[in-house]
Amino acid sequence: MSLLDRLADTGRGGRIGTVLANSSACADDVCLMGRDHTDVQLMINMSLSFANEERYLLQPTKTVALNIKPSKRTTIPKSECFKLGEINLNHVDTSVHLGITRTTSVCETAEVNVDGNISKARRALYSLLGAGLHGHNGLDHKSMLDLYKSFVLPVLTYGIEIFTPNSTLIKQLDLFQRKTIKQILSLPNNAADPCVLILTGLLPIEALYHLKILNFFNNICGQKESSIERQIVVRQLSVKSGKSSSWINCVLPLLVKYDLGDVDDYLQNPLNKSQWRLKVHKTVVNYWKEYIDRIARTYSSLKYMNIQYSPGKFHPLIQVGCSSALEVTRLPTRFRLLTGTYVLQVNRCRFNQYAISAVCPNCKVEDETVEHFLLHCSALEQVRAPVMCRIWNLLESMDLTKQVTSPALLAQTLIDWSIIVPNHPSYRDKMLMLEFHIRRLFFHLHTTRYRLYKELSGN
Ligand SMILES: [Zn+2]
Repeated sequence: MSLLDRLADTGRGGRIGTVLANSSACADDVCLMGRDHTDVQLMINMSLSFANEERYLLQPTKTVALNIKPSKRTTIPKSECFKLGEINLNHVDTSVHLGITRTTSVCETAEVNVDGNISKARRALYSLLGAGLHGHNGLDHKSMLDLYKSFVLPVLTYGIEIFTPNSTLIKQLDLFQRKTIKQILSLPNNAADPCVLILTGLLPIEALYHLKILNFFNNICGQKESSIERQIVVRQLSVKSGKSSSWINCVLPLLVKYDLGDVDDYLQNPLNKSQWRLKVHKTVVNYWKEYIDRIARTYSSLKYMNIQYSPGKFHPLIQVGCSSALEVTRLPTRFRLLTGTYVLQVNRCRFNQYAISAVCPNCKVEDETVEHFLLHCSALEQVRAPVMCRIWNLLESMDLTKQVTSPALLAQTLIDWSIIVPNHPSYRDKMLMLEFHIRRLFFHLHTTRYRLYKELSGN
């Protein structure tokens, strides 16, 4: 008979209502819970004698006692020492169980774990530097984003459905994600936030949090009638008011928010994996898709970008990938022009219109706008003409030149062709070529502009 069964058979220790929940364990990590000192001491003694029977040792320094504050107003109850054989157990303020740090109160637990997750995620990021997760001379952006998704994001969101962080803490996690992605894509910090999600197809942390909670809830619903988690959920549903800080009160508002139906339906007919994806996952993802689409339209810096947000998919321009290490160095300019964060004279002038003129310093003909820089500046014509010729030929071969009727539309097409090029497999090779030439064009325009600019300021 296993230790956990023996502990359950005692009927002693912690209860939630009438449901016995005196121990939780995974592999060698066991947590014993109880309100009464003698109950807990009994369970510790049982664990010790079981360890002796099975001939293993309980780690005396890692085994600790943690007193939990029952509510906000009360203070931590004083209790006598617990004994592990002859040794007195240490009383601590924090202890890790199943990868989640537990502290003396629920609020603090959430704070500590969010901080912990962020620092662990940062460490995971740094450990990937060796694999090429750095802007200059590193991997291409698509691979870097894949590395982020597989190795950093799971660390960042570990256990959030359990310790249920509040909105301020969720924002901290989201900020970390946004900053990291901007760094990976070599975008400045002031780049519009929705463009991070649109380019990468990632979900905001809040959406991930909601999905994880609903997923966990459905998993509990799918358990047997006798399972402790299910019994607790059934009890809390019937007993707890909306104001209580019970975990079930994190689930109920979400069912209302996403219009997912009644909580009893899920308990009676739990969804299997494909049904869950089809119903819950799809509803939540669509909700956020609409939300991001709506706010992205309000950003003027994204006016040239195709702001169609497809969760789980890269933006068409990122999907293209890179053919060589040389091309990776061209991407920052490309992404800056795409997200409206490339600094031209008109942008600089906006901050100091008395000292800085908006007129293009290289040709001094008109204001240096994106259109002027990409299409009209005579000082850059030499670099522009040959590449432009090839781009135009490509557009012609795809029969798209009819749609590009004005310079504004041409600038639009150069910055984000995915608006007019249909996403069709037969166009794939041409899309790759088109993107290759556009990256080349932008990079050459950028370097030439800077060279001329430097020569001017040098004189
Ligand atoms: Zn000019």
